[in-house]
Amino acid sequence: MSAAAAQPGFVNAHTHLYSGLAPFGLPQPPSPPPDFPAILRTLWWRLDRALDEGTLRASARYYVAHALLSGTTGLVDHHESPAFIEGSLDVLADACDALGMRALLCYGASERNGGREEARRGLAECRRFLRARQRALVRGAVGLHASFTVSDETLAEAGALCRELGAIIHIHMAEDRVDVDDARARGYAGPLERLEDAGALVPGSILAHGVHLDEVQVRRASSAGAWLVHNPRSNDNNRVGWARALAASARVALGTDGCPSVAGEELAALEAGAAREGQAGQGLEARAGRGRELLAESFGQGALEGDVITKEGARVVGVDVGGRPVVREGRLLTGDLAAIDADAREAATRLFQRMRELPPS
Ligand SMILES: [Zn+2]
Repeated sequence: MSAAAAQPGFVNAHTHLYSGLAPFGLPQPPSPPPDFPAILRTLWWRLDRALDEGTLRASARYYVAHALLSGTTGLVDHHESPAFIEGSLDVLADACDALGMRALLCYGASERNGGREEARRGLAECRRFLRARQRALVRGAVGLHASFTVSDETLAEAGALCRELGAIIHIHMAEDRVDVDDARARGYAGPLERLEDAGALVPGSILAHGVHLDEVQVRRASSAGAWLVHNPRSNDNNRVGWARALAASARVALGTDGCPSVAGEELAALEAGAAREGQAGQGLEARAGRGRELLAESFGQGALEGDVITKEGARVVGVDVGGRPVVREGRLLTGDLAAIDADAREAATRLFQRMRELPPS
């Protein structure tokens, strides 16, 4: 690489390529959503229902291109597009593969729109993608949206699929109180225990958030071989709370949960939160580097050695992924950035119009 010393690239351990067009001005609900379930219903679950193949492709290419330019060399995506399930992971994989992003992809199965049939289709998409394994830079996982939007049967099927294919689970875990309350109403101590009971807490699994887990639960998840992913900007934006108990484990990585993949911005939110919550000086910023360990569990130890960046001051000027030059002199080599941006702007207009036209969920 160039004269400046190469350093490890950032691995974004939990994000959503489907929200890549949000920076173009997501249509806002008529009044501010009062709580997390309302934020999901009026914003993110409207966005995912409005996605089709074309808007998803534009969203993924825009997100991935800018993530690479910001020094992200790998990402763990959690995908949902209920009107376009079959083949959706190929759209994301093609975007990552073409632009040179290492990625671990899953479809987040859920019953929130179409019941068990919807969940079966989501898991089938994971199965299809995991078995095809067509691209050197891309791997698959089994996805579940969250405990509170799936039945015991879907949880058990997801666990069985992991064992059959040697895969891991990627799921939102205790992001908001609603996930804990739901699991308790179903007779479990919490969503983590519900996952365990269903045989779906397979080693290596990725639990996004864990805001409402306690230290005992965090340690138990950790000793079961699971990862937790802290997403401080998203947690602030959604006002779900501070993920205090994550400090009880070293198996915690950093994710941006759909926010632009800029490590420095996520780290700033982490440091501000740690200072505000009395957890400064506890080494939480080490989470920014742990995504590489998380991703290496899917790609093999040493597989990420060629995923490096170079900087001039704070600016990322060079990016290599798997030894392939992706960015030089701050410019993307693997795609036409102006065309990607123009496609994204045009797709955002279509997507936002579809969102406005959707009936309430
Ligand atoms: Zn998420």
